[in-house]
Amino acid sequence: MNIIIFGPPGAGKGTQAQKLVSDRGFVQLSTGDMLRAAKASGSELGKKVASILESGALVSDDIVIALIDEQLTKHKGAAGFIFDGFPRTLPQAQALDALLAARDMTLDRVIRLVVDQDALLERIGKRFEEQGRADDNPETFKVRLEAYHQQTAPLVAFYDDKGLVCEVNGMQDIDAVGAAVAGVLDFE
Ligand code: AMP
Repeated sequence: MNIIIFGPPGAGKGTQAQKLVSDRGFVQLSTGDMLRAAKASGSELGKKVASILESGALVSDDIVIALIDEQLTKHKGAAGFIFDGFPRTLPQAQALDALLAARDMTLDRVIRLVVDQDALLERIGKRFEEQGRADDNPETFKVRLEAYHQQTAPLVAFYDDKGLVCEVNGMQDIDAVGAAVAGVLDFE
């Protein structure tokens, strides 16, 4: 089963993706994690994307599509994939369709975590204080949120047209969101 966990930054996508990894043995493909790892390693890619990550803007489609392509090949035969933070633009969504089709795979669900914007700002402010993730600082977070609204939110219509979107209330506590996600995945 291959699913996208979808929502704005700070909606809890990573937390829910990790839960699916431990509960169901799925492979989490988080482009944000991959890019942060590249930056931390000081690789050529890391150097190229460092300032973009710091700004909160999106890196180019080519870069993230290549990362996903590589990981799909690496984890061939996995029980399922959870796409976390990918796709974020229409060209990425179209590329994902092609990457999956080339492997005789399909996308089964898009789980959309629905959150309240004020709560999101509060949640991220807290995460910034606790974890000190640079791009959670209030100024950069605004850029990330803007990128979401401009470039990523339109994907809801793209996947709605395919009948793939299931909404989950992301404002509940982590376990309740997890239970709702499980309910969506187990629904035939
Ligand atoms: P995330 O951890 O998913 O919020 O991603 C952190 C940062 O990585 C984003 O603010 C972007 O700069 C970059 N990024 C992650 N995924 C993508 C993507 N699919 N397309 C473009 N940029 C991305």
